[in-house]
Amino acid sequence: MNPEDPLTVYEAWDPRQAHLICQVLANADIEARVASDALEMGLGDIPFQHTTCPVMVRRVDFERARAVLAEFETRLAGGAGETPEESQPYCYHCGESVAVGDPQCPKCGQELDWTV
Ligand SMILES: [Zn+2]
Repeated sequence: MNPEDPLTVYEAWDPRQAHLICQVLANADIEARVASDALEMGLGDIPFQHTTCPVMVRRVDFERARAVLAEFETRLAGGAGETPEESQPYCYHCGESVAVGDPQCPKCGQELDWTV
């Protein structure tokens, strides 16, 4: 197998995301390109929304690129997960689920503090 063969390391949903992925890989010293850039030139009338934008890297860089992107996505997911789970409040004394605004816990009877 040729180590220079291009492999798809990531299927982006749109060119903007694809170029972001390229940038992330470039920052890790991995040469990447968006396959659809070439596609657009040759086959310009493929409906845009029906295509993905594969990001290609050389075979030798593939494993490293996967690792870089895995870390990148973990960081993305971590950022999105910062919203607190307000849908299910619980009693700070016994851990029982309570309804928002309940003056006291239905299980242990402790007063609930809704000021925080
Ligand atoms: Zn309780």
